[in-house]
Amino acid sequence: MMITTETVSSWLRRYAELITQNEAHLTQLDSPIGDADHGTNMHRGMQAAIESLDSATLGEQLRGVAMAMLSKVGGTSGPLYGTFFLKASSALGAVDRVDDAAFIAALRCGLDGLIARGKTQLDDKTMVDALSPALEKLESDGDWVQAAAAAASGRDRTTGLIAKKGRASYLGERSVGHMDPGAASATLLLEALAEVTR
Ligand code: ADP
Ligand code: MG
Repeated sequence: MMITTETVSSWLRRYAELITQNEAHLTQLDSPIGDADHGTNMHRGMQAAIESLDSATLGEQLRGVAMAMLSKVGGTSGPLYGTFFLKASSALGAVDRVDDAAFIAALRCGLDGLIARGKTQLDDKTMVDALSPALEKLESDGDWVQAAAAAASGRDRTTGLIAKKGRASYLGERSVGHMDPGAASATLLLEALAEVTR
């Protein structure tokens, strides 16, 4: 299967829709272990991001999305999602289509960049706990639906973890018992991708 500028456009428009539908939920998750703004942050970012989706190349599309996340989200999650999309954009470059393998490799560059910027490891109770198992599934099986399921189970696992990064880490052990909001928004990103590649 080829991933085209239309695929990316449908993917991120669908993601923006899912963020709007889940805005209150994401903010609610960010209330016991954060500052109750994750849904609002992501909604503001994705509304700005969808304006870049008409660009002619995959690289330009994702660069525009990255810039929107960096400049509009505020909060820790903005620079992290921004880095994810920026690194993926550079890996894709000035083309209007790539095969699955190249697209997955670009997402891997994005995740590596996010991890480096956030100085995060698996099990720190962040968005990485959803993104990492999803990427591993994509690399091993190339299955978008299985990747979204892996993200969802990674997200669910964050509930039992002690937060090591971001605001939630200030709570130490009291962060246990609450799902990480960034892992929830990252799962929606993979669910949107599974829908449009089906
Ligand atoms: P803020 O914490 O500044 O209010 P948000 O509420 O928008 O920003 O985002 C919080 C989310 O950011 C967390 O749920 C977590 O998933 C993610 N996060 C925080 N710090 C890191 C980090 N160092 N690496 C990866 N993700 C992080
Ligand atoms: Mg917050």
